[in-house]
Amino acid sequence: MSTYDVIIAGGGIIGGSIAFELAKEKLRVAVIDRQQPGLEASWAAAGMLSGAPESPDSIPLAPLAKASLEIYPEYVAAVEEASGRPTGYRRDGTVMALFLPHVERELSTILAVHHGLGFATEAVRVEDARQMEPALNPAMRAAAWLPYEGRVDSRALTEAVLQAAEKQGVEILARPGGVKSLAVEKNRCTGVATGEEKISAGKVIIAAGCFSGTIPTIERYAPTRPVRGQIVALQAEKVKLERVVRSEKGYLVPQANGRILAGSTSENAGFEKRVTPAGMQQILAAAVEIVPELAQASVVETWSGLRPDTPDHLPSLGPTDIEGLLIATGHYRNGILLAPITTRLMREWVIQRKTSMTVDAFSPMRFSQHSAVAG
Ligand SMILES: Cc1cc2nc3c(=O)[nH]c(=O)nc-3n(C[C@H](O)[C@H](O)[C@H](O)COP(=O)(O)OP(=O)(O)OC[C@H]3O[C@@H](n4cnc5c(N)ncnc54)[C@H](O)[C@@H]3O)c2cc1C
Repeated sequence: MSTYDVIIAGGGIIGGSIAFELAKEKLRVAVIDRQQPGLEASWAAAGMLSGAPESPDSIPLAPLAKASLEIYPEYVAAVEEASGRPTGYRRDGTVMALFLPHVERELSTILAVHHGLGFATEAVRVEDARQMEPALNPAMRAAAWLPYEGRVDSRALTEAVLQAAEKQGVEILARPGGVKSLAVEKNRCTGVATGEEKISAGKVIIAAGCFSGTIPTIERYAPTRPVRGQIVALQAEKVKLERVVRSEKGYLVPQANGRILAGSTSENAGFEKRVTPAGMQQILAAAVEIVPELAQASVVETWSGLRPDTPDHLPSLGPTDIEGLLIATGHYRNGILLAPITTRLMREWVIQRKTSMTVDAFSPMRFSQHSAVAG
């Protein structure tokens, strides 16, 4: 039977990044995936690094998001150096373009919330927003500038992370069915079983995205469920966007190859990855509202992916009450943004058994405690 210091179930951005980090600490690490890694949510993501909360649900994430934005440059530099591949990382801010009635009130609420959390969001005049991004619709009613936000090419980053991990000595094992069960002896996790073999390890980290909750025992710590998001990639010779632009209804993310990603939907559709006419209609209407000239763009690709959501929409991070079993999943809409800080926290838990920031709100134990109370 093979033996590792750490086994990670799931080779998306989260599992891949943790593996790379732990291998740098000279640990013997294996990533087990049920297919070729890197082809689920991390492949589908738009790549926005948007720290500021989008809704009241995501306010508790703000300290993690800020910490992750801060260390993004060093995270990307390490990945690019080890893999020799670019990741499309840019920290060039986001323009928020608001179209709905009563936007003044909406904008002052957004500013108050962002400032209260320490995000330097500024109100800008519509004319100034259009100077930054001339393609924007002059009919927008108000605008804001979020200079601290960034973007990355999620596919390029995920591939680079997995390559960096392999170059650092991580073994990437694609096994049909992936991790099927945990080996637990006397309340200690001693490894995993795939359909084919048992693999033992000092520690097991579950990072299987929205599929995490389908692994027996894990639902107690990470009751993940998939939330489908669709994306349309557009190409338009005449439209130049320098930065991410978001409205109340959608977003546009420019990529280095000239494509503009337009997103997204948020659907409870089980594990079914599909692009639908209704989804396309919603995304394209929002895209054309933000930049009217996109009505003439070419649709060059469409896809969908499954965000790993949890009941409180917050990630499940850290140790469990089974010795040696840790969780790193449930990043929902923000897994690309949160990969660096998740990686740092997991390294701290594995190596030092404590973290440099307070993250109790994300403990995997909150779900099992709730179910115990509810009976
Ligand atoms: C349309 C869309 C747009 C998004 N845009 C953004 C964005 O702009 N910014 C942002 O920060 N986030 C965004 N997200 C969210 C982000 O993509 C996710 O939070 C992040 O990719 C989660 O990464 P992960 O590694 O946890 O999961 P995944 O990338 O889903 O990886 C999980 C891996 O686990 C494997 N697996 C499954 N079951 C098993 C098993 N039993 N054993 C072993 N392996 C298993 C899978 O095959 C997969 O490779 C978006 C998501 C979607 C769908």
